[in-house]
Amino acid sequence: MGRAVSSRPASRGERGILRVGNICANVIERERPLSPERRPEDAVEPGLRPRRLEDYIGQDRVCANLRILIEAAQARVETVDHVLFYGPPGLGKTTLAFILANEMGVKVKTTAGPAVERAGDLAAILTNLGPGDVLFIDEVHRLRRDVEEVLYTAMEDFALDIIVGKGPSARSIRLNLPPFTIVGATTRPAMLTAPLRDRFGAVYRLDFYDAAAMRAIVVRGAEVLGIDVDARGADAIARRSRGTPRVALRLLRRVRDYAQVRAAGVIDAAVADEALAMLEIDDLGLDEIDRRVLALIVEKFAGGPVGLDTIAAALAEEPETIEDVVEPYLLQLAFLERTPRGRVATRGAYAHLGVPYPEPSEARPPAQAPADQQPLFR
Ligand code: ADP
Repeated sequence: MGRAVSSRPASRGERGILRVGNICANVIERERPLSPERRPEDAVEPGLRPRRLEDYIGQDRVCANLRILIEAAQARVETVDHVLFYGPPGLGKTTLAFILANEMGVKVKTTAGPAVERAGDLAAILTNLGPGDVLFIDEVHRLRRDVEEVLYTAMEDFALDIIVGKGPSARSIRLNLPPFTIVGATTRPAMLTAPLRDRFGAVYRLDFYDAAAMRAIVVRGAEVLGIDVDARGADAIARRSRGTPRVALRLLRRVRDYAQVRAAGVIDAAVADEALAMLEIDDLGLDEIDRRVLALIVEKFAGGPVGLDTIAAALAEEPETIEDVVEPYLLQLAFLERTPRGRVATRGAYAHLGVPYPEPSEARPPAQAPADQQPLFR
């Protein structure tokens, strides 16, 4: 099997550490309990990932559509159409790919866009698939263009066109493959090329989970992990989990540790509150990094608008990290607005920080860093 299968790319957070004040620039992805990005500690215990559609909590619209897709394919004794899931990290894209394979009774192989370095790697993966198997490609928007082109024919015709020989004697031979299903996942659907997007027969967006679904996910996770949590304790964890199951399950584990050491292992509301306060996670599920982003816009840029690059530079982070990991939740809480001229902090953000909102009569100065700080933000 090609080495690109099942290997995960180094996370952006594994890069070198830049210090900003007392905060490490790579804190966002490596240390942050609230980061939705997958980390080694999230390696799931057996049973934690729901294996059947009926055990999957929330995303009702997506589940209803998947059910039809699966039943129709089963009735026709065909493979399922290629499926694309998109949405922020940690919402269940990988889980749904495994569920799809499980419901169809086929095997699933996994890879990720950046792990497939050459077209030959993809050919090796595809020729190793059995009839009907699912190939899950995470971060599918990061496939190299030449690899993507091989995927087009494979997805459309279940065939690989292989060039044999070199120079004038080179010729192309077509290798037929048994039918299979590609399940792609991406956090950045806009970066997908149109030809690739068009080859997915079913495209589903995953949204952040609502409060009831988050509570149910915490309760189920506690059951699987054998953690003693009462309803209000589950609620306290769910409320701060940013509508993201991966975050909820990670917080549950952290709170369990605290409960074990300080509270005879039982998680109630008070224990959850204390444990999460120690992790500096506030009532709305914002942590130090979120508050720093908001405080930067409010205090240094008079509420904005301020460009993403400037925010990222001021925090010594990559713009992508701010955009993918921090902003989605701040936008969801309506603490931040994206405008053509940059990010703007809303009245809600001011209230959360306890800073008086500048009323319209107090005309906002143009979004510019104070003179003494400007060179820092270039
Ligand atoms: P993604 O691929 O979107 O980053 P995953 O599928 O890896 O997310 O899910 C992250 C974690 O959350 C996994 O441990 C998974 O078991 C759990 N999870 C995701 N969706 C659900 C759900 N609907 N119900 C219960 N657990 C879930």
